[in-house]
Amino acid sequence: MARRRQQKYSVLTSVLVLAVLAVLTVFGTRPRTEPVSRPAAQSAPAGAQSSQKDAKPRETQIYYLDVGQGDSELIRLKTGENILIDAGTPETAKELADYIENLGVKKIDYLIATHPHADHIGGMAQIVSRFPIGKIYMPRIPDSQIPTTETYEKLLTAIDQKGLKITAGRAGVTVLDSGEEKLEILAPNSAKYGGLNSYSVVTLLTIGEKRFLFTGDAESDSEKEMTAKGYDLRCDVLKCGHHGSSTSTSAAFLKAARPVAAVISCGVDNDYGHPDKEVVARLQKAGVAIYRTDRQKTILAECDGKTISFTAGLKSVIQ
Ligand SMILES: [Zn+2]
Repeated sequence: MARRRQQKYSVLTSVLVLAVLAVLTVFGTRPRTEPVSRPAAQSAPAGAQSSQKDAKPRETQIYYLDVGQGDSELIRLKTGENILIDAGTPETAKELADYIENLGVKKIDYLIATHPHADHIGGMAQIVSRFPIGKIYMPRIPDSQIPTTETYEKLLTAIDQKGLKITAGRAGVTVLDSGEEKLEILAPNSAKYGGLNSYSVVTLLTIGEKRFLFTGDAESDSEKEMTAKGYDLRCDVLKCGHHGSSTSTSAAFLKAARPVAAVISCGVDNDYGHPDKEVVARLQKAGVAIYRTDRQKTILAECDGKTISFTAGLKSVIQ
């Protein structure tokens, strides 16, 4: 009896060992890691090409993102680095980070907060938390004018929590220069202004022969300083200051910039009446092609250093 039971056990043991071996064989021959399908590819905004994922774009890409009544521009350099100028409003913080992630962006190498108003830094705390960040540029503002808003505090906390530092954005600073692509700061030129808008960090992106100017909400006082300082303000594409408001894109500044195209970032039927009719008329009179995020949603400019091509009507960040 004992012997038969022992035989029974040894048969059972053999069956078990074989079963275990079979299981090990099955799993052993499987690839250890299965190819992970990238959700980004499925939800990429219209117009986004598969070549944008991970790889360096063949041309410099400038996205004028439709964030409603706010500002946000993403620049994807040929070096594979990314620049984000402003980050829209707090209401679309998650949507903006998702959008940028879906474009295949892994890191924001240069983050520029033109000035600490909620329609420019609203989504920035989320960007800082979700992406690895290289350098952060912000204008230096006198203590008496530093805002105490929750949005600004949240951004400072996010920067602090990641142990990041803020570099003062002021005229004369070269943010990057790879030879083919260059980003320089043209304003602010003063230590003190009447309002926060004019502290806006104004940047000039040069790609070969082409030039893109990003003015934040810089008003005519800052524009006047830039022309007075003798900066070469000529550009091919001008991101109009202060959402096309009458405070910016003054006749003198426009004459100095002489853009071929202008981008106005503003919300549909916004409460501020942006863009100002006179500014639009001034641009039209100067023969400047106007792109508006309230009408054409996200606008993409692609530049190879010699030519610029525009794609309007890309997916909006706001839903
Ligand atoms: Zn603004």
